[in-house]
Amino acid sequence: MTRHCTTCGLPTNQIKDNLWVCENNHDNWVNPAAGAIVYVLKDGKVLYGVRSVEPNSGKLSLPGGFIEIGESAETAAIREVKEELGINVTLIDYLGSYSSDYASGKPAINIVFIAKYSSGEIVSSDDMSGGDPIWRDINTLPKQDELAWGWYSEAQKDFIEWHRTHKA
Ligand SMILES: [Zn+2]
Repeated sequence: MTRHCTTCGLPTNQIKDNLWVCENNHDNWVNPAAGAIVYVLKDGKVLYGVRSVEPNSGKLSLPGGFIEIGESAETAAIREVKEELGINVTLIDYLGSYSSDYASGKPAINIVFIAKYSSGEIVSSDDMSGGDPIWRDINTLPKQDELAWGWYSEAQKDFIEWHRTHKA
């Protein structure tokens, strides 16, 4: 894909995986955008929203989103669950980070937390209003073809292993 220099607007050439340079020798580094994503647990079940926008409209999605400037990943995780599904959660652990391409090849790094439901009534909004959110039993988590994003398969494996060893 052609990238244009963010300083002068000329087309750039890719020099490295994450570096594009224009004729004026401006460096344009392309780094992943950081997202905070949450497995919300309650009574042995995990909460999923249903996406209402493309890509992957109608598929199950964990609550989460991009971290804002000046915000910690932890704060973003809690904020996104509240914004998308209306509930308050308490973070109980960090699962791991998973890289992905978002939409049109925009790279992302997904920082994944595990949280416990704390309070509030579930109200889906934002890009999660494609259907009623659902609680899925830890023993019958969604198959990959039900899920919105490819990187979930790796995270879900780690999550199942986390749950086996923590019994949360
Ligand atoms: Zn330039």
